[in-house]
Amino acid sequence: MQIVQAENLVKSYQVGEQQVTAIEQANFTINQGAFVSFVGPSGSGKSTLLNMLGCLDQPSSGRLLINQTDTSTLNRSQAAQFRGEHIGFIFQDFNLIPVLTVEENIEYPLLMVQNRPLAERRARVNSLMEAVGISEQAKKFPNQLSGGQKQRVAIARALASQAKLVLADEPTANLDHATAFRIIDLMKQMRDDYATTFIFSTHDSKIMNAAESLFILEDGKVSEQKNGDAK
Ligand code: ADP
Ligand code: ADP
Repeated sequence: MQIVQAENLVKSYQVGEQQVTAIEQANFTINQGAFVSFVGPSGSGKSTLLNMLGCLDQPSSGRLLINQTDTSTLNRSQAAQFRGEHIGFIFQDFNLIPVLTVEENIEYPLLMVQNRPLAERRARVNSLMEAVGISEQAKKFPNQLSGGQKQRVAIARALASQAKLVLADEPTANLDHATAFRIIDLMKQMRDDYATTFIFSTHDSKIMNAAESLFILEDGKVSEQKNGDAK
């Protein structure tokens, strides 16, 4: 089953008089449960592509199907709804809510976006804290955590709503190398356990080797390369 299908996908920005093409006629598919990386230098279009996949921004032309839904036709509120149901996000600066504890941060999408009953929220938050190895920090606030711990919370939060697609924009950029590898391993473990598709961007060549497949961005062009090194 394919979770992502891009067909002649184009994104261009109007900058003054200039038209900047960030993504040029991209055609690719990503299977449900894949563990893939978007790779390319700064300015190559990684964020543009992730933003479209996250329904935060619309294609200029072409189609982008996620879970068989053509997201390029969704209006703003439909996009927000779709995002809440299908997509989880992990950011390089973690984006945790500073006034909420670890468990409240993870619970947030279940409460505010999906309005799940209390018992279900508690059960899911507890099992996710266990899964990412953060249970002992449940009552702590983000500023009391290490970088690796913060990213564990962000991973649990991204998985809380049972999203089928998790998008991670440079998730290891602010972590030391050893912690970065542990976080990538954890994401892969979560993929194995929950059959969630993970797409992460990076420009770290050691980190990208953990992906099964690389989508290489070069001047707005997207090409796929199977990763022989992936474990
Ligand atoms: P990356 O994430 O790989 O660094 P981006 O997707 O941010 O690349 O950028 C791709 C290209 O699109 C760059 O040339 C960038 O300047 C341009 N771009 C990105 N966002 C905007 C925007 N909102 N307005 C105008 N140009 C943009
Ligand atoms: P940091 O190195 O920034 O402190 P880590 O993310 O490496 O943060 O580790 C955070 C906590 O998770 C630590 O207590 C560590 O012992 C624990 N931990 C590290 N790796 C794993 C793992 N694979 N499974 C479960 N717990 C882990």
